[in-house]
Amino acid sequence: MPPKFFDIHTHAHFAAFDEDRDMVMLRAREAGVVMINVGTQKDTSHAAVLLAEKYPGFAYATIGLHPIHTEPSFHDTEELGGVGKEFTSRGEIFDTDYYRKLAKKDSVVAIGECGLDYFRITNPESRIKQEDVFRKQIELAIEMDKPLMIHCRDAYKETIEILNSYFIIHNSKLRGNVHFFAGTWDEAKLFLNLGFTLSFTGVITFARQYGEVIKNAPLDMLMSETDAPYVAPEPYRGKRNEPAYVIEVVKKIAEIRGESYEKVRETLARNAVRFFHLNP
Ligand SMILES: [Zn+2]
Repeated sequence: MPPKFFDIHTHAHFAAFDEDRDMVMLRAREAGVVMINVGTQKDTSHAAVLLAEKYPGFAYATIGLHPIHTEPSFHDTEELGGVGKEFTSRGEIFDTDYYRKLAKKDSVVAIGECGLDYFRITNPESRIKQEDVFRKQIELAIEMDKPLMIHCRDAYKETIEILNSYFIIHNSKLRGNVHFFAGTWDEAKLFLNLGFTLSFTGVITFARQYGEVIKNAPLDMLMSETDAPYVAPEPYRGKRNEPAYVIEVVKKIAEIRGESYEKVRETLARNAVRFFHLNP
């Protein structure tokens, strides 16, 4: 029987969980939640793989370079531990060999999170750099035959254009999921037409603008995530988020769609198994 729930985009390997990670993992396991821990740069990608190897069949990993970490100015204390801990302060150059080596591990189910973030990074040279790093990860995903875990903020049009340029040559090979989807229904359709899935976080439990996409998209193309430690759903809003809370996201998707909770829960879990070729 497949697991009850999937948190397909989370960061239980981040420093925010250093004090009580085993408890967080235990609460997820008891709730029936299987998770995919998402890398954002070299060290968090490596840490995601180590956590997956510690919890086989229950935690999986993705490896990649987040667009905001292509620039030096973004330090995320939740990720790397902040005060007292050493962390890279320069923007990372995408090291294909390093990531290719990690991508060959059995626990690695996707490449990313990668993509474009025009919300936090606005200057033109950085945008060129982001696109270059994104393209390298798309090429790695095609080479490894793994899906992309896409992060996209204020750049849906540009992301679609880049993906389209690969579809012309690699039609059957490229696949992916757009995490924390926050675009319009028109933008959603462009991704769905490419066969890309969309995943939603706890933000849907307290913000209304996601309803149209969640209602209109085929249920087979949706997945649930927490993006923990960020954006905890109601009733945990404002606290540190964790994978066990993905249940609130699943409930809300069922409520928005007006469909039975059991049907939505089961379909979302099946979608994750199918999409990431999991064998939990
Ligand atoms: Zn994330």
